[in-house]
Amino acid sequence: MIVVMRVGASQEEIDTVVERIESIGYQPHLSPGAERVVIGVVGTGQDRPADPEDFRSMRGVDSVVPIGAPYKLASRNFSAEDSVFTVRDTPIGGPGIALMAGPCSVEDREGTLEIAGELAGMGVTILRGGAFKPRTSPYSFQGLGEEALKILAEARDATGMAIITEVMGSDEVEMVSDYVDILQLGTRNMQNYRLLEAVGRQPKPVLLKRGMSATIEELLLAAEYILSQGNAQVLLCERGIRTYETATRSTFDVNAVPVLKGLSHLPVIVDPSHATGRADLIAPISRAAIAAGADGLIIEVHSSPEDAVSDGAQSLRPAAFAELLDGVERIAQAVDRTLIRTPTTAP
Ligand code: PEP
Ligand code: MN
Repeated sequence: MIVVMRVGASQEEIDTVVERIESIGYQPHLSPGAERVVIGVVGTGQDRPADPEDFRSMRGVDSVVPIGAPYKLASRNFSAEDSVFTVRDTPIGGPGIALMAGPCSVEDREGTLEIAGELAGMGVTILRGGAFKPRTSPYSFQGLGEEALKILAEARDATGMAIITEVMGSDEVEMVSDYVDILQLGTRNMQNYRLLEAVGRQPKPVLLKRGMSATIEELLLAAEYILSQGNAQVLLCERGIRTYETATRSTFDVNAVPVLKGLSHLPVIVDPSHATGRADLIAPISRAAIAAGADGLIIEVHSSPEDAVSDGAQSLRPAAFAELLDGVERIAQAVDRTLIRTPTTAP
């Protein structure tokens, strides 16, 4: 359940509610909204289920709302306002649409700096690149590890872009978090609960990819694992799901975008590269994602897709990506939004 404080409730009244929540063995999670403070009451409690009557008559309390959904902090009830997380200078989840782009894997220093420079020239503010790769086969390229993190950090210094990379193991969370601006949790790890908890205990935002066979409720419960550890900055990512269809690598679940926006206050990002597996489909699916209400896109771009060590078939060349941005910008305008691009962008 959540305790909604009155507009202008005093700090002392808030503290008293927090103390009562703790005294019955639950954890209070504060959401300081623009108007009023909302306090989530989560946990399993020690003695008995939390009783709304314990809070209704307390000073400063406006209302107590039971949350029917099994996820609480991720729920729309917890925050009527959309959550906005600012990464370097990019506000993700607000009216602007965030752009994340780059190679599937960080392959070498020169290639990464080159593509980062090209993307920065197009005004893209967040660079993606895998350092630890979750490959289906143990014999496929596994990523350059920490060396790749150093290369990404160098690309950030050179371009001013923020960087995002995947973390695969709980024991690597601290190291990855020290280097990057956003941690990515891959589709194969969406239900790795120790990993979810570990990223929930570090301060950087987490892009949580939907498991390829996970329901929307399971995605929101995975987000809840992160939120319940104290990290409020979770980005939900629709990256395609498994269906009987074989024409594409995955099936982009466009429904998930407005469904997630309705059920949760968290930003929703779409990955059209993994959702389709085909470079020719990335632009139309990006446009569909923005039309459906996505808050951002994460797209694989490579200077020479035919030479990419992973996911070349679903990687766009920089020129095709620039064209994609023009098309997406027009759809964004139609839904009263704009792409977030740095002012250095060519007109
Ligand atoms: C990736 O982003 O390169 C990746 C491996 O994504 P996913 O976890 O969605 O397959
Ligand atoms: Mn990939």
